[in-house]
Amino acid sequence: MSYGLLFDIDGVMVTSWQALPGAADAVAELARREIPRMFLTNTTSRSRAEIAAALGEAGFDVGPKEILTAAKLTAEYLAAQHPGKKVWVLNQGPIADDMTRVDLVDDPRQADLIVLGGAGAVFTHEALSAVFERMVTGTPVVAMHRSMTWSTSRGLSIDTGVYLEGLEKATGRKIKAVGKPSPRGFRIACDLMDLDPAQVVMVGDDMHNDVLGAQAAALTGVLVRTWKFREDALRQLQRDEFGPVPDHIIDSLADLPALLTELYG
Ligand SMILES: [Mg+2]
Repeated sequence: MSYGLLFDIDGVMVTSWQALPGAADAVAELARREIPRMFLTNTTSRSRAEIAAALGEAGFDVGPKEILTAAKLTAEYLAAQHPGKKVWVLNQGPIADDMTRVDLVDDPRQADLIVLGGAGAVFTHEALSAVFERMVTGTPVVAMHRSMTWSTSRGLSIDTGVYLEGLEKATGRKIKAVGKPSPRGFRIACDLMDLDPAQVVMVGDDMHNDVLGAQAAALTGVLVRTWKFREDALRQLQRDEFGPVPDHIIDSLADLPALLTELYG
């Protein structure tokens, strides 16, 4: 059976842009098998080219076009669902490279649609009030993801989800999110690989965002026991007889080639 792979980057391939043991060899081995692949990350602070360069320094041979950031997925989503709309983006970091097909405007008052990216210094009272004003009058708002926190070198920081929930409560309207764990993002990724979700295996260290999110979109979910992995969270999940659990669990990416051989030959 033909199948494809979706790799989470952080905590699976690298931590702080240093390769995890055996990860680069595993990715190279799977490349030799010519399995279609893409790399799926909720990162909004780096462009695809920057991520490809950082992965290259860590020993992975990955091209920018193989990387799907939340910004790129959002651009694909807008092209499919809201073509030709004028879009204002509130995001901390460079996104223009990954949103080339989107008609970006500088003023929220001129936008047909608003995109919330990753939170940061640009999420000011003024900017969020402008989003609120447009949202109240019915302008659709799309979020690149709805993560509550992100880890920085100084520790955990609040992310877009915190603002997003406040805006939803204040306006009584919903914001659609595209990045992990939204099924929208996973389906777009499968479409870009020209594969059905049932033919795609997602590998990640975040049980909720990567694995259960993928499974909810009908992909196969593989959990790795690296970085964010927590044994107690897994046991908690396994206690519920009818609840969702990962399709497969492996110690690290180094064990993925053997698992795939077992599953697909
Ligand atoms: Mg991860």
